Amino acid sequence: MSESRKPRPSRDSGLIARVRAAARQEQFLEVVSAEEARVRFERHLDLTPLPAEAVALADARMRVLAHDVVAAVDAPPFDRSNVDGFAVRAADTVGASDGNPKVLTLNGEVIACGYAPVVAVVPGTCTAIATGGVIPRGADAVVMIEQTELIEDGSPRIELRRAAAPGQFVSYAGSDIARGETLLRRGTCIGAREIGMLAACGLDRIEVVRRPKVAVLSTGDELVEPGKPLKPAGVYDSNSAIIAAAVAEAGGEPLMFGACPDDTIILEKTVREALAASDMVVLSGGTSKGAGDLSHRVVSQLGKPGILVHGVALKPGKPLCLGVVGDKPIVVLPGFPTSAIFTFHAFVAPVIRARAGLPPEAAKTISARVPVRVASELGRKEFVLVSLVAGEEGVVAFPTGKGSGAVTSFSRADGFLEIDALASTLDADSAQVTLIGSTARPPDLVIMGSHDVALDVVVGELADRGFAARTLAVGSLGGVAAANRGECDIAPVHLIDPTSGQYNKHLVAPGLSLVPGWRRMQGILFRPGDARFEGRSAQEALKIALADASALMVNRNAGAGTRVLIDKLLNGVRPAGYANQPKSHNAVAAAIAQGRADWGLAIEPVAKLYGLGFLPVSPEHYDFLVVEKRRERPAVQAFLSALHDERVRARVCALGMEVTDD
Ligand code: AMP
Ligand code: MG
Repeated sequence: MSESRKPRPSRDSGLIARVRAAARQEQFLEVVSAEEARVRFERHLDLTPLPAEAVALADARMRVLAHDVVAAVDAPPFDRSNVDGFAVRAADTVGASDGNPKVLTLNGEVIACGYAPVVAVVPGTCTAIATGGVIPRGADAVVMIEQTELIEDGSPRIELRRAAAPGQFVSYAGSDIARGETLLRRGTCIGAREIGMLAACGLDRIEVVRRPKVAVLSTGDELVEPGKPLKPAGVYDSNSAIIAAAVAEAGGEPLMFGACPDDTIILEKTVREALAASDMVVLSGGTSKGAGDLSHRVVSQLGKPGILVHGVALKPGKPLCLGVVGDKPIVVLPGFPTSAIFTFHAFVAPVIRARAGLPPEAAKTISARVPVRVASELGRKEFVLVSLVAGEEGVVAFPTGKGSGAVTSFSRADGFLEIDALASTLDADSAQVTLIGSTARPPDLVIMGSHDVALDVVVGELADRGFAARTLAVGSLGGVAAANRGECDIAPVHLIDPTSGQYNKHLVAPGLSLVPGWRRMQGILFRPGDARFEGRSAQEALKIALADASALMVNRNAGAGTRVLIDKLLNGVRPAGYANQPKSHNAVAAAIAQGRADWGLAIEPVAKLYGLGFLPVSPEHYDFLVVEKRRERPAVQAFLSALHDERVRARVCALGMEVTDD
């Protein structure tokens, strides 16, 4: 919208102006491919390592070597004995045996560590030497003290019964590190081992690449600094923390500028400060082309060459904005955490690594089977985050599917797969998965199905016993399917058989068995003090709520066990709010706690967690389908034994569950 189209004054002109402004979405002028975006950006970047600086060896850990290190000394610096014994001339020992011992006269010195020998070992003599001692002139081998006898009468002598080969038990000068040898290459990230080598060469300072200073700045009126209480409609600023950590991992030095409100003047001032203080600026948020999105406007006013790319055909990450001011890169990442960190790794981390002197990160990929169909938007290269589990015939990749707004999608993913811009689905049954992070350890136990707060108690017990469990919350039905395909070890389920009214028993199929878990009381949640519910029975409260047009419910998604119960209770009635169908107990509780709804059904522990009132309706059975073929695995056995552990049971009960054995 142009500035000249001012809204006509009217009673609601203020409101209308604000609605217009909020809805104003300029089009992205030009959305380019990821490859094109990188080319345009890099054309204006200096990707050579920053100049070197000298640091003390003690401060060199995790720094990057600026130059090759050539050893200036030998290590060991002299020929050195490897054992306690006697330095000899090997020729004097030839033919020594039990039947023909050789006798050598002891020289008048003892070579301890740090002692420079003065007496030469001439034929027929030897010198006592300690481990680490300097081999004296004339000697060319060492015999171990255990293989000699000391003769104490007359002049001191030794008797030896074994011949020594030349060089026996001798480490020659320079055999460990040779003077002139290239010990370490530039670009090496210095760890304890490298520090040891540098110290062995006598270095106490070393030249490392200066770390690029990267200013990290979040934008958004809603952002709250972690550690402070969350205000209404606020969200914690997670991008600052994750991006700062990722900057450090890429070899940069993050400078935290915190979260800036959506205010052009404050933002511009802060960004200018950030530019002055750093080698590179990374903002997040405010890069869509909405009215509240100021970041790219501010960036466009800072100087040449300015914004190079705004809009990349990527999912997640379309609103990414890449610019350069003077010689400093300035990037605006999308606000959604997963989009932010994804685009950071794709476009920003390589620049930081290059300037930090680190080599490009080699992408590690594996091929995996994708058991579900993945739809994709045409025209945008799409990255789908996946969790990996071991299936019957190799690795299986499950899309984690929480969307780009989720922090955990990226943080918990093992990798991602790419869907071409020209494809509308991932057609191939098998796909290449690019792995994220290298520290991930394959899980000992895979649990797929419905999640429950008390499940964390059992998984925690497993962790104490040294087993790493991976829990994928795919819902009861998803768990049943995964168990039948042998893709998980255990599937937690709570599904009612509409015909028998029994829980879970109908899910048992060949190769699967059912292990009882616990019962969770389901009931009506409401805000304490609401007279329509407080102190009443569930039936009574339900009657009142259904008769009251202002009582707004919150439903559950189709397929949820709780939904089956809701529909049974409602018996065909569709009260206001029925169409609002979130996918978890927590979402139901949050909607009621925040006043977006007045009542809904969820389990009792969640009601407690949100400080809500609770009217019990009926217990739901939460049990475990066990894949028989995997039952004997140690982690599965540990899970089953943890279920019967008295301490575990007590903690499960403390969460409001009732543990059953049938
Ligand atoms: P924006 O790009 O500013 O339109 O933000 C898109 C979404 O990302 C909104 O839901 C924001 O609340 C969220 N968001 C933006 N910045 C951050 C941040 N630093 N930490 C967490 N969420 C954020
Ligand atoms: Mg914003």
